[in-house]
Amino acid sequence: MHTRKTFCRFCHANCAIEVDIDGDRAVAVRGDVSDPLFGGYTCMKGRELPAQANHPERLRSSQRRLPDGAFAAISSGDALDEIAGRLAAIRDRHGPRAIATYCGTYGFMNSAALPVALGFHQGLGSPSFYTSITIDQPAKVYLGSRVGAGSVLAELDARDYELRRDRARAALEQARARLGLPVGSDDDGLDPQGVGVVRQAKARLEQARSVADVLLRRTRLGLLAAPQLRGTDAARPVAEAMGRELGWSRRRVRSEADAWPAAAAGAGIDLAA
Ligand code: SF4
Repeated sequence: MHTRKTFCRFCHANCAIEVDIDGDRAVAVRGDVSDPLFGGYTCMKGRELPAQANHPERLRSSQRRLPDGAFAAISSGDALDEIAGRLAAIRDRHGPRAIATYCGTYGFMNSAALPVALGFHQGLGSPSFYTSITIDQPAKVYLGSRVGAGSVLAELDARDYELRRDRARAALEQARARLGLPVGSDDDGLDPQGVGVVRQAKARLEQARSVADVLLRRTRLGLLAAPQLRGTDAARPVAEAMGRELGWSRRRVRSEADAWPAAAAGAGIDLAA
């Protein structure tokens, strides 16, 4: 077993790797920690390259389609000669531009594919060379090549910017006011008791002065029907919940619940109905 330093051919990142080789088989791949650029990084695709290279179903030679549609192995030299013969016929009849190459997504997944294809087109004299960038995203390439230091990419409308800034400032002041912080100041000291939402909650608790008060209000709003309110027992859970919130004593909780039937009668609610 020996180890060779090389680079991963699986994508255009070309990470530096070390490959353990047993006989003529790659058995392990890891990042090359001595590489100053990658520092040992690889993705799992790179580390799994031995599984790909040694896969039993991997194609190990070029294939030629037979007249019946089946495929048969053909040596790379013979395959290139056959392809060259057909391309020469196209070039002689239509000119080199008639021969085009497209390198799509997986054209980038092989480090040799792009340079070989470009070299082929230069030798052929055909500009018909396309990639997913020339077809889908040409602006990304051309913009980068036309922009230099100091170039103006976009101009902001100053008035539009000022309006947005003022609106953001107003929203900030509103938020400060809601929190009870001084408006127009950077003082972020906060008294929790002075915060608007806390004051509102306290006011609501103040309004709920007694169990009878709460139950009468709920009855008027149609939230409770009289059968649910019959007697002191029905009012006790409400009294206990309020007692917990307001810090009532056990005695106060009891007396609040006991006072309910009389309060209901005084308000004209017939608990027996
Ligand atoms: S496939 Fe992964 S390990 Fe290989 S070059 Fe690309 S990023 Fe690096």
